[in-house]
Amino acid sequence: MKISIQKFIYFLVFILLSTSVAVFTYFYFLQQEKTASIILHTVQSEISEVNYIISKTIKSKKDAETYRPLLERIAVNNDFIAAIVIHDGQNVLLTTDPMYKEILPSSKLKNSETTSYKQLMKQEGVEDIVKYYIGNKVHTLQLMFVLDKEEINLLLHEKGMKFFILFALVQVIIIMLISIVAHRFIISPLELLRQFAYYQNEVPKAFMLQELEIIRYSMVETFDRLENEKKELYAVARTDSLSGLANRNALMEYLTRLIASSKRDEKEFAMLFLDLDHFKSVNDALGHNVGDDLLKKISTIIDDVLRPNDFVARVGGDEFVIIIQEYNSLHELTTIIDRIQTTLTQTWVIQTNPINISSSIGIAFYPKDGDTLVSLMKNSDIAMYEAKKNGRSRYHFFTEALNQRVQDTIQLEKDMKEALANDEFELYYQPKVDIGSGKIIAAEALIRWISPTKGMIPPDVFIPLSDENGFIVELGEWIYRTAIKQQTLFKQAGIDIKISINLSPKQFLVDGFVDSFTKSIKESEAKPSSIDVEITENLFYQHNDKNMEVLGAIHDYGVSISLDDFGTGYSSLSYLKDFPIDYLKIDKSFLDDFDNERGRVFIQTIVKMGQTLKMQIIAEGVETAEQLEYLKSIDCDQYQGYYCSKPMNVKDFENFYLEKKS
Ligand code: C2E
Ligand code: CA
Ligand code: CA
Repeated sequence: MKISIQKFIYFLVFILLSTSVAVFTYFYFLQQEKTASIILHTVQSEISEVNYIISKTIKSKKDAETYRPLLERIAVNNDFIAAIVIHDGQNVLLTTDPMYKEILPSSKLKNSETTSYKQLMKQEGVEDIVKYYIGNKVHTLQLMFVLDKEEINLLLHEKGMKFFILFALVQVIIIMLISIVAHRFIISPLELLRQFAYYQNEVPKAFMLQELEIIRYSMVETFDRLENEKKELYAVARTDSLSGLANRNALMEYLTRLIASSKRDEKEFAMLFLDLDHFKSVNDALGHNVGDDLLKKISTIIDDVLRPNDFVARVGGDEFVIIIQEYNSLHELTTIIDRIQTTLTQTWVIQTNPINISSSIGIAFYPKDGDTLVSLMKNSDIAMYEAKKNGRSRYHFFTEALNQRVQDTIQLEKDMKEALANDEFELYYQPKVDIGSGKIIAAEALIRWISPTKGMIPPDVFIPLSDENGFIVELGEWIYRTAIKQQTLFKQAGIDIKISINLSPKQFLVDGFVDSFTKSIKESEAKPSSIDVEITENLFYQHNDKNMEVLGAIHDYGVSISLDDFGTGYSSLSYLKDFPIDYLKIDKSFLDDFDNERGRVFIQTIVKMGQTLKMQIIAEGVETAEQLEYLKSIDCDQYQGYYCSKPMNVKDFENFYLEKKS
């Protein structure tokens, strides 16, 4: 059972009051009884007194009248006596008040009530028998005091009534006071505490009662502590611990609000997706410590460059999202973006390491390019990738065409996987010609995708993509298996030439690659020396022991190594020394420069250098007789190009080869 403090207090007051009423009533009746007994006693003793006087002095019945003055005085002086009557049983001999001329029956004069009060209430008068002697004979007269009932009642009740009213009033006042005090000092503080506990809105002021005050104080302290903890947790959950910038959660929250208000006010804003260029190589080369310090530094810089109303969050390793709301023109916006990029593009010294960094930024607008958080993030990210693709250290705006391209790419990725399952890929072969003898001594396998719906798709479209998404591992395996098998098939058809296979650096990282590759050779019973792999300088760029090891193992197995597209990458001569390279393939771009003196010098220099390092030189993209003539004059070893033939499918290649031989 639950009972409210208010009720509890009322209950206590009720107990208190009933006790006091009981005590009061007890004393009241006691007092009444006492008073009644005094009245009775007074009247009784008065009547005895009078009786005594009369009985002493009366001689005959007729003398009664002589007592009038005495009796009248007594009747007047005594408030309780209304009249005094003397009678002889039949006739009234004397009455002090003409109103009382009758003789009261004895039932009204005597009763057997137990208390004086009850007696007094019932009795109308008091009677005594006056005995006197005439001679020896006893005579009697009745002496009767008529009680002044009005006066007695007044004394007994009216006073009591007053007393009672006063008492009741005091009680009411006490009740009121108690409830006011209880309300003021207990109930309303408790209610305030309840509200405070529930809503934590208004902090109650200090209370008078010590216990309540202690509770209030503890509650205030606890809520303060909880509030602080909440704030801390809130901050932690929304802050990126490394940079101190807002994190993804905070960005989500901010954007949800911003999108709502922008929708309401029909305003636009720009989302910038910023990604640091080549940050991964900083991490790889100098360690995560340095990378982290650089990120911290850059975060501070970005924050400083921005204006107070702009918002920045770090949403990934080296990815930042910046929201810019206030700009009057596109020009103003690009000025801000320029400022961010130029500020970041400088040499930072981190733990004594000088580091050059730049950033790529993609921009999407609300609501033009997306009206949800997800679409804005996606589209600014797409634009950022475009900036990277266009050479990094620049910005790019999102466009629908860009989006379409991304969608196409996604579709292409899907289609590519199906194409492999549906056997839509085919290897073409382009002859490599020995310049001295003019004979085809090798062929490079080049992949083609022959789609039943889209026709022939060149490798430039899907090889870089499959390199990016890792599909090249699966596709590459199919390529080398097919090409190696083809070497044997060509041999069986009388075409015993070396087959070159293009390998992507991603394939080198796959566990068991060497085993799988050499097993393929073993199974097809090809000679390892009739297999060649073409790698690009990219492989060296990600200079690591694993690549070196794989390349060494393949080479040791007897497979030759060609360095493809030589001169286009970040050429460093040191790896020509470190890696086991058998052939140098001069990129087509050098042959394109064949027209001018400088270009020719370049080709000649590469040929000389390669031969000095015991490598054979293959010129790529030879299209004219003049080019070939020149290559012959500088003793270049082999060439490849449309001048001899475009890449051909197996059937065409066989025909071409056999025709040429005969
Ligand atoms: P790449 O390895 O440098 O291949 C040479 C490219 O030059 C081939 O283009 C070839 O058709 C083209 N070419 C040859 N001679 C001439 C010429 O005289 N003039 C002109 N304009 N072009 C010539 P393709 O087949 O379109 O391949 C493009 C690139 O795709 C290849 O460049 C290679 O990086 C990649 N690729 C092709 N097939 C494969 C493959 O099976 N595996 C891997 N990983 N990459 C491949
Ligand atoms: Ca190649
Ligand atoms: Ca090439």
